[in-house]
Amino acid sequence: MEAFLPFLAHYAAKRNAVGPGHRAVSRLSPALRHRLLLEEEVVATVLNRFRFPTVEKFLQEIHWRTYWKGWLELRPQVWRHYRERVKWLHANLDKPELRRAEAVGNGQSGTAIMDRFARELTATGYLHNHARMWWAGFWVHVEKLPWELGADFFLRHLLDADPASNTLSWRWVAGLQTPGKTYLPRRSNLEKYCAPEWLQDESGLHRLADEIVLPFRASETTSLEIQPLPELLSAPVPRLGRVGLWLHEDDCAPEMGPLQAVPFAAIAAFRPAVPSQSPDMSSLRRTHLASVLQDGCNRAARHFSCAVTLEDSASLAASLTAWAVAEKLESIVAYSPFVGPLGDQLDSIRTALAERGIQLCLLRRPWDAQWFPLAKSGFFPYWAKVAARLRMHSAPQSQPELL
Ligand SMILES: Cc1cc2nc3c(=O)[nH]c(=O)nc-3n(C[C@H](O)[C@H](O)[C@H](O)COP(=O)(O)OP(=O)(O)OC[C@H]3O[C@@H](n4cnc5c(N)ncnc54)[C@H](O)[C@@H]3O)c2cc1C
Repeated sequence: MEAFLPFLAHYAAKRNAVGPGHRAVSRLSPALRHRLLLEEEVVATVLNRFRFPTVEKFLQEIHWRTYWKGWLELRPQVWRHYRERVKWLHANLDKPELRRAEAVGNGQSGTAIMDRFARELTATGYLHNHARMWWAGFWVHVEKLPWELGADFFLRHLLDADPASNTLSWRWVAGLQTPGKTYLPRRSNLEKYCAPEWLQDESGLHRLADEIVLPFRASETTSLEIQPLPELLSAPVPRLGRVGLWLHEDDCAPEMGPLQAVPFAAIAAFRPAVPSQSPDMSSLRRTHLASVLQDGCNRAARHFSCAVTLEDSASLAASLTAWAVAEKLESIVAYSPFVGPLGDQLDSIRTALAERGIQLCLLRRPWDAQWFPLAKSGFFPYWAKVAARLRMHSAPQSQPELL
């Protein structure tokens, strides 16, 4: 984050350019996704050094993450439906279409620039936002493949794989998120924003000619009805007995925020077990996740000065229960996992712990409690409310900006 600050003043003007090195964007998402770095830390640091108008675009992007998360927390059925569709498509889609999806993912579509992006994603776990938009648009509107399979491919490979940002961005590209709006990958747009050397191989570029790329509309099959946010605590209850901390991939900064003063007796984190038990992750993503958890555990061990367990696990419910029993815990405290693969396991975790008389106490960070309820409608009404509050905290006029 510190290294990126000198580039921030030019972020709004340059962020859409895609080319070698990705110098105009922060590449913070693999850290932000797992809360190795908190959105509130980034926003506070940036507003301390710059005046609001200079960095509004960047702050807006940080808030897109929060907004998407809030949007999905309010409509968890959208995630569930998407996961069911992925399974259904794998079982029922025509074989040639499945083979085509595999070829496009392997970088063998025949459109050289899109194949470069597919290879960049699988080799590095990162793609620039504009490249994600082009590639997703190519998948949906040019290849006419189901958006759910493209989203699933991203989730397996992105180091920042995030159930909310990913699912909802794919829905947006496919024209489901904002009714009437789709994202089309057009040659003129690529030529404007993509490094010319990446477009030298023109194979397949004719398929992106502006006049022939037309929206291939997906139809909405999910209810978008808003559900009440689950009731969660904002601070741990004072009498929890002997208490352990469950540290997980959705929040790796327990030493910052409402948990920082809790006298934990033990801490545990669990890595998804051997690849055969979770084929839904590339090896690069698996390695990233392991190092993210290791990093969280190291900081937690230093801060809370207690024993930390970090193990592979084939069943989170079984592993957490076995650990709690071994440590003689009366309760486990954690930041609540978000809607997504981890959230999907909460019911089975709760049941397994309850059978042993162990309480699970889940918290929501003040940041999430403040912003999630505002994600009921579109991003721009959300942003208007956020911006009004952020303006009050930006660097004073008298202080020089870091330009
Ligand atoms: C089809 C598609 C799929 C995506 N899937 C994911 C995903 O799985 N995980 C993920 O974190 N982001 C996803 N994004 C959003 C965005 O592309 C990435 O967050 C961004 O490219 C990360 O790179 P950066 O850190 O260099 O971004 P920067 O431009 O430096 O932005 C700073 C931070 O703002 C946030 N941010 C920026 N753009 C967005 C955005 N459009 N939506 C949400 N947050 C944003 C990220 O936390 C990012 O780290 C997706 C976008 C698209 C179009």
